[in-house]
Amino acid sequence: LNRRLAEFGTTIFAEMSALAVSTGSINLGQGFPDTDGPEEVREAAVRALRDGRGNQYPPGPGIPELRTAIAAHQERRYGLTYDPDTEVLVTAGATEAIAAALLALLEPGDEVIALEPYYDSYAACIAMAGGTRVPVTLRPHEARGGAADGHSFRLDLDELRDAVTDRTRLLLINTPHNPTGTVLTREELTAIAALAVERDLLVVTDEVYEHLVFDEAEHIPLATLPGMRDRTVTIGSAGKSFSFTGWKVGWVTASPALVTAVRSAKQFLTYVASGPFQYAVAEALRLPEAYFAEFRADMRAKRDLLAGGLEQAGFKVFRPAGTYFITTDIRPLGESDGFAFCRALPERCGVVAIPNAVFYDHREQGAPFVRFAFCKRTTVLEEAASRLKTPT
Ligand code: PMP
Ligand code: GLN
Repeated sequence: LNRRLAEFGTTIFAEMSALAVSTGSINLGQGFPDTDGPEEVREAAVRALRDGRGNQYPPGPGIPELRTAIAAHQERRYGLTYDPDTEVLVTAGATEAIAAALLALLEPGDEVIALEPYYDSYAACIAMAGGTRVPVTLRPHEARGGAADGHSFRLDLDELRDAVTDRTRLLLINTPHNPTGTVLTREELTAIAALAVERDLLVVTDEVYEHLVFDEAEHIPLATLPGMRDRTVTIGSAGKSFSFTGWKVGWVTASPALVTAVRSAKQFLTYVASGPFQYAVAEALRLPEAYFAEFRADMRAKRDLLAGGLEQAGFKVFRPAGTYFITTDIRPLGESDGFAFCRALPERCGVVAIPNAVFYDHREQGAPFVRFAFCKRTTVLEEAASRLKTPT
């Protein structure tokens, strides 16, 4: 393994999902739903397979039907208009979109500012592209009172501004944010946009949890802010929006110049992927608003169920405004090392979780935090909550 990748080892998701299988534990680690997405979308995939659509290489940028559906989705929901032919690119999941964007846009030595804790592929892809990551840490805030105003992780805009240097090329943003569940506010996004314009930075924004926002939180695409449309690469995923994480269909929307750049890298990574599934996802993106509303309501109820269970079990809970993850603080349990805690948890009570420290450069900052995924059936969440309450 070369020096660029040596520090990354095996991704925590593989390690923890294997541990869940070998110990027969409930897997609240890796973020994947335990119920599949809509029946009619699965049927659309079957039809595509049967009718011979997508069984051979689809067009490199993605099938036109899907690119059109992605553009229509961005327009309908956010008023963002993209030309399906020149401003939309289908990728092998958001993971490939992130990799291709970073490989295409970074010169060796360029600095990339990423919100820490960050989804683990960011660090590895920045390294593969020869860039240097500059983490800006989201800090835990205590609840200030008020019903929806729970504990949360917040971005310090001064820290963000101070992190920009002459070598900064790109801001890598993620909202709703994995693992903290933070949804950036309009005020925060406006400040990020102003900084990007002032310092002439590119922005890659991972918005795979765009449909998973709860209560009063609103997902605002960074590309909608002034000056941002043509400097922003926006990333979405059918895995997250339609509960088909195994299909690996993701996408990029951006200006023609940026899409061309990302496609240049993408064509040598996978060229194309997920043929028949692209047809099905085109149909999924046209689902009525009721689908998205129900998906949100369902996940919100699951969030509340698991958050309540974790609180009763003694964790401090950062109730997420978005995503399907809950970050907790284990210090009220008399614990302080999330790694040790997560490695012991399957034996102690048959539940698997993820130590947030893996998402930090400053590992000590993440040490007491542990992430639980709540995209699971109610009965599974109830069983997990009950096991967590009475560890053996
Ligand atoms: N970005 C974030 C923030 C994620 O949490 C994930 C996966 N859960 C991805 C990207 C990757 O998405 P995909 O499965 O579409 O590759
Ligand atoms: N993104 C998912 C998570 O954060 C898992 C993706 C993966 O396994 N790489 O849990």
